Amino acid sequence: HISIAGVSKSYGRFKALDDVSLELPPGSVTVILGPSGSGKSTLLRAINHLERVDEGFIRIDGDYIGYRRKGNRLYELKEKAILKQRIGVGYVFQNFNLFPHLTVLENIIEAPLAHKQLSRTDAERRALQLLETVGLRHKADAWPRHLSGGQQQRVAIARALALNPKVILFDEPTSALDPELVGEVLDTIKQLARSGTTLVVVTHEIGFAREVADNVVFMVEGKIVEQGSAGQVLNQPQHPRTRRFLAKVL
Ligand code: ATP
Ligand code: MG
Repeated sequence: HISIAGVSKSYGRFKALDDVSLELPPGSVTVILGPSGSGKSTLLRAINHLERVDEGFIRIDGDYIGYRRKGNRLYELKEKAILKQRIGVGYVFQNFNLFPHLTVLENIIEAPLAHKQLSRTDAERRALQLLETVGLRHKADAWPRHLSGGQQQRVAIARALALNPKVILFDEPTSALDPELVGEVLDTIKQLARSGTTLVVVTHEIGFAREVADNVVFMVEGKIVEQGSAGQVLNQPQHPRTRRFLAKVL
């Protein structure tokens, strides 16, 4: 269970996140919508402690992200402990970010080996299974640059899964893809949703949100202005700003 409580984050005087609170139950799929600059990426980065928040806190299964609780006080974790915490949170970026000098298989086993989670043999076996689930078993020895954008993104998803995260964060996973490649990536994410992994997806793919999301969150200027079930927010938006946004993207 992920609990985001009263989170604010400023860059200088600019408030990128303004008192954001959100609950993400285990196995839920949450889609985050909002105009450019509304703080969607900042929120995802905060969940992974890539961004240190100024106020509020984020907990995953009771653990404070970036902090350790002792009595009534929170102490900031050291880099090593933060890296360890991040194992539980997978991240898939807009631009895939595969290591270009590593093959597909090597990209996937890199983290499990670095964290000494698995032996090389076990990591490779698991990587091949993950490639099977994203439909790319036959590309294990290919270089990232020889794959289509959609295939690269599916490898990035397999890589995010390699550490058995509790949650996977997707930041506009299809926005860099040619339209005909969007479907294969969304299908892969749908499959994950059915497997019970907790997912947070920033996307403008409203059809996907309608079909897959349990909850939809709409952000403007660092604030959540509306949240609810996909049906509520997408079919009967209450806030005028949500209505205007949906009218544009639909
Ligand atoms: P987009 O849809 O364009 O990706 P977003 O909703 O993801 O937008 P964020 O990237 O979270 O928006 O940015 C929110 C605001 O915070 C923006 O106005 C951005 O310029 C600002 N911002 C983000 N990171 C920094 C930073 N490191 N320094 C200063 N300002 C930042
Ligand atoms: Mg963004």
